Amino acid sequence: MRWYNHVLGGTLAELIITSGTGPVFNNTLAAGISALVPDIDSPYSKLGHNLPVLSHGTSLVLGHRGPIHSLLAGFLYAILVSNFFPDLVVPAMVGFISHLILDALSGGVNPLWPLKFSVSIPLFSTMGFRELFIATPALMAANAWAVWNFIGVQEAGVIIINGVFNMIRQVISNIA
Ligand SMILES: [Zn+2]
Repeated sequence: MRWYNHVLGGTLAELIITSGTGPVFNNTLAAGISALVPDIDSPYSKLGHNLPVLSHGTSLVLGHRGPIHSLLAGFLYAILVSNFFPDLVVPAMVGFISHLILDALSGGVNPLWPLKFSVSIPLFSTMGFRELFIATPALMAANAWAVWNFIGVQEAGVIIINGVFNMIRQVISNIA
């Protein structure tokens, strides 16, 4: 799956699970970013491209869609996140697991590694026609529906502006 479809899958899962309640901006952002994390095992992914040493290393040692695409890796990721952002562990997990589900729909994954239990419901091939012309528009529409249904368009705008403003304020206070 393309990186933006993983982001859209993570945000959609988070919006549906929380029904848009709680700290929506931080949670949705954490889920969207965490939905990219399993592909750190591919130097050709969005995240892997930006962290070449880590991605080449993991892909060489562990392979793409290997141990990093498992619930065990998700658990380790949760521990890592809990050290820095304890409030965001659950949305981070939602994003991580949404990645495994979307990869199961586009090829297959081995979520219970080291046990051999591959899940493959190949509705889409990665980069294929159906991913681009069915999955992407469907994920965009579903996200739009979730925002409209759970939060409201105007309220979502306020949440985004406030969230970005808070992030900038935090970055400035960290520098100062
Ligand atoms: Zn993947």
